[in-house]
This record gives sequence, structure tokens and C-alpha cells, in this order.
Amino acid sequence: MEEEVTNPPGSTSEQLPDGILALLGPRTYLSTACETALLLTKAIARNPDRDDLPGVRDRMHARCRLNHKFTGALCSCPCHPQAD
Ligand SMILES: [Zn+2]
Ligand SMILES: [Zn+2]
Repeated sequence: MEEEVTNPPGSTSEQLPDGILALLGPRTYLSTACETALLLTKAIARNPDRDDLPGVRDRMHARCRLNHKFTGALCSCPCHPQAD
């Protein structure tokens, strides 16, 4: 059921070189998966009768790739254990 993974979580194959990343400044990154999950959290609060939503939200958090594809910045979603 899972599609072929060509760019698995944690992959740095498309990350920019350090010399360019150094020019970008501080970066806060929220993955599209976790951003959608946080939107679902709000939708759940508005639609408490929709018992299908929590499962969808959990799946979105679980799909997070953790690091930004191009900058390597880590997802800031509270669902991840904080490294620091
Ligand atoms: Zn998350
Ligand atoms: Zn995330």
C-alpha cells in the first residue's frame, strides 16, 4: 500500500552545500505533514463528532520526514522529541 520511497526520511541527497546553508540564517521548519496534522488538530476541536480525524492526524505526524529536504533544518513540530 506504501508507494516507492525515492527520498526516504533523513536523506540528505538534495541538501544544499554547507557554504550556502551558512548564508541562509536561522531557519524554523515545520514539515507539510506536521503542518497539516496541526490543522487537523484544530479541525478535531471544531468537529468532535468526527472520530475518523484523530487517526488521520496521527498518520500525518507519522509521515513527517523530520529534516527539510533542501536545508536539513529539523521539523519544529512538538510531536518530535526535542534534541536540545
Ligand atoms: Zn508532527
Ligand atoms: Zn514533523
